[in-house]
Amino acid sequence: MELNKLLRPHLLNLTPYSSARDEFKGEADVYLDANENAFGSTSSDNYRRYPDPYQSELKAIIGKIKNIDSEYIFLGNGSDEPIDLLIRALCTPSRDKIIITPPTYGMYEVSANINDVEIIKIPLTADFELETDKILEAIDSDVKIIFLCSPNNPTGNSMEKKDILRVVKAFSGLVVLDEAYIDFSSQPSFIPELQSDENLVVLQTFSKAWGLAALRLGMAFANPEIIKVLNMIKPPYNISGATQELALDALKNEDKLASMVQDILAQKKRLKSMLLELPSVIEVYPSDANFLLVKVAKAHEIYLKLIAGKVIVRDRSKVALCEDCLRITVGTAEENKALIAELKRVS
Ligand SMILES: *Cc1c(COP(=O)(O)O)cnc(C)c1O
Repeated sequence: MELNKLLRPHLLNLTPYSSARDEFKGEADVYLDANENAFGSTSSDNYRRYPDPYQSELKAIIGKIKNIDSEYIFLGNGSDEPIDLLIRALCTPSRDKIIITPPTYGMYEVSANINDVEIIKIPLTADFELETDKILEAIDSDVKIIFLCSPNNPTGNSMEKKDILRVVKAFSGLVVLDEAYIDFSSQPSFIPELQSDENLVVLQTFSKAWGLAALRLGMAFANPEIIKVLNMIKPPYNISGATQELALDALKNEDKLASMVQDILAQKKRLKSMLLELPSVIEVYPSDANFLLVKVAKAHEIYLKLIAGKVIVRDRSKVALCEDCLRITVGTAEENKALIAELKRVS
């Protein structure tokens, strides 16, 4: 991969913002370099100082858990931040393009639209697999990024590993593989592939299995050259001190993650069998994530009736290939029971 040729040309000469924390990195007694309030704050005193712009303590621990060097890690304000930064770094507005494979996560399209970047859509097959041949045929010299999502949202399935690898190997631009649901999956992460595939970016997040959606903390794993570019164009202090602190706490309790995931997967199995007993349910699709895509008769009507009963699911019935489908997050045993009771009542 020649990253310099993929980057928007003006970035090759960009002078990034140099923060106080960039210009002095050592230990000192008196810090009068960042215009912080030396007297206190109207809230906790823990947040008077600007945070570590590169989150080195967090990255060291994440690196240990994911078995990868810190220099392969970028942290963003949700995974949505690296999605946007990658598009901005590589795609010249109204000239370059991205490829997406709908039905999939909506932010790739929204970010591309915000940045005035053309989108080529290569829909998944009827059983939600990648149309690998068609993806490869759609590549031209203006396509800079291909976004893949596995396990995919909203379909819930993992893509075939050989299909993902085929795209990664054949494409000279970046392949961004969104693994937001990887902790629930029976499939391994593609992070180990980063050693052999320089053009791969793997996205993960603290929003799903880690249970920290409100923190807004996403991870991008990639070749250090790509990470350097993201660091150059990100807002200087994109991860707040409070987020870094709470994420460090969460990582200390990493041992709780696996059992929480097991509980969610057990509930998913129960929810699936309860759903399949309902006459209104036509199909529950295989899921490697913490949600189920469910085909029901009159999905939109049922969705509205569920809302009236104060149970909210996601209506995907207008999404191509997901006609008459609801996307249902796996809840607690009580929440799932309440959902089933409402579904029985309304259908
Ligand atoms: C939920 C989700 C995310 C998470 O985004 P954050 O900004 O990290 O909360 C990313 N990708 C997919 C496919 C998702 O479903």
